[in-house]
Amino acid sequence: MAAPEFFESSPWIAGGVERQPALAGAKNADVVIIGGGFTGLSTALKLREEGVDVAILERDHCGFGASGRNAGHLTPTIGKDFPTLVKYVGKDRAVEYARFADRAVHYTEAMIAKLGVDCEYVPTGNIITGLHPRHRKPLADGAELAAKLGVKVAFLDEAEVRRRGLPSHVRFGVHELAGGHLHPGKYVLALRQAALDAGVRIYEDSAVTRIEDAASPIVVHTDKGSVTAEKLVLATNAYTPTTLGRMRSKVFPVRVTLFRTAPLTEAQWNRVGWQGREPLYTAHEAMENYRSQADGRISGGSKWVQYGYGSTLTTGHLPEVFADWRRLFARRFPELPDVPIESFWGGWIGLTLDFLPLHGANARGTVFHGLGYNGHGIAQATYAGPMLADQVLGRPNAEVDLFRRRLFPLPPEPLRWLVLKGITSMLDRIDNRVDADLARGTV
Ligand SMILES: Cc1cc2nc3c(=O)[nH]c(=O)nc-3n(C[C@H](O)[C@H](O)[C@H](O)COP(=O)(O)OP(=O)(O)OC[C@H]3O[C@@H](n4cnc5c(N)ncnc54)[C@H](O)[C@@H]3O)c2cc1C
Repeated sequence: MAAPEFFESSPWIAGGVERQPALAGAKNADVVIIGGGFTGLSTALKLREEGVDVAILERDHCGFGASGRNAGHLTPTIGKDFPTLVKYVGKDRAVEYARFADRAVHYTEAMIAKLGVDCEYVPTGNIITGLHPRHRKPLADGAELAAKLGVKVAFLDEAEVRRRGLPSHVRFGVHELAGGHLHPGKYVLALRQAALDAGVRIYEDSAVTRIEDAASPIVVHTDKGSVTAEKLVLATNAYTPTTLGRMRSKVFPVRVTLFRTAPLTEAQWNRVGWQGREPLYTAHEAMENYRSQADGRISGGSKWVQYGYGSTLTTGHLPEVFADWRRLFARRFPELPDVPIESFWGGWIGLTLDFLPLHGANARGTVFHGLGYNGHGIAQATYAGPMLADQVLGRPNAEVDLFRRRLFPLPPEPLRWLVLKGITSMLDRIDNRVDADLARGTV
């Protein structure tokens, strides 16, 4: 069997992108945006609707970051999970966040419709799956509470799971009804094209190396040029601490690995069942995710994450993690012993300590940020567009107000590394106990 292929960026954009010219010389704009992912592109589109002159500076090509690499689950999940969110912020606030996340999904669906692009979006919802009896209470109680509070979820018991023909590792689950799955590469490149069509100036291969924002106007520098603007939007999510040296105490990057199998034949799909092809996340503390692709493959990943000391962007070529994934995929999909994992890739997600996104501005109201989507940014980064645009335009925005909070700062290194290591080890231990029971077949 051939060794699996490793993509430095992502198979979703394997064909590459015809790049926009890099920034050269001194330019002006009303607003300069750093980062060409969902956040930067969606903000630029919204600002252009208001006639604002916008320049995006992207260090690679738009979609090179998480927006072009993700797993493609369009989901209304917010926070770690609903019961944990309720525990930390209380019922009323948790419901407000859940409704926000729901609006973010619907905004993204409307954006996809507006772009008129076929990004393979299928509105199946997503299912959080229970594999072990230990998963049952948190899922059932969480679903009951969420449904009581008006959040659109449904508990799927064992009979319903079998009726749907979900893969055999699934025992029960919670169906998040909003959202579904899509092709992230097609979606982000459609946003990029729409921004170009709307007159946004996009400079690619243009890494920002220095920002002068102590006074107005702001000047943003790359190696070969600069953009002078009244307002600046930081749309660099997980990259922000590393490449810009900003938001270090609030957001940190963790590397997540994804894989995809070879395309399944019809006979192989028949063995799995999964007629509704709803994307799945396991209820583990560090979840596993699985989904079908339009080309007949299964893709999945997450679970084992890496934090690089000092918030560095750790390497993604991790043969041990790849081997672990091959073993785990075989355990989760015993129906498919003949389906190989064909390739791996991954990217960095921007995490915050309370698992909620960050929106805000500097004291002078000239530099704005939207980041820290904790792996749920297809919807929430797209929806950051109108939130950031309103702030730039000096308009009130209730969604931005919802995320104003006192955030416990991340400790400096080496304490940060130790704290994060401690948290991930603890979560792994819980999951390992679950998986050991499953492997022994004692539950
Ligand atoms: C492996 C993986 C799987 C995921 N799966 C899901 C999922 O299934 N569902 C979901 O909702 N979310 C998922 N996410 C999260 C989601 O993809 C992100 O939250 C979202 O894409 C963030 O968008 P963004 O525009 O804020 O950041 P990004 O898309 O990361 O864009 C930031 C951009 O900034 C650029 N940049 C950085 N530094 C500089 C600089 N100095 N100068 C110029 N440009 C710079 C980068 O090149 C990058 O293109 C996943 C993320 C990863 C990595």
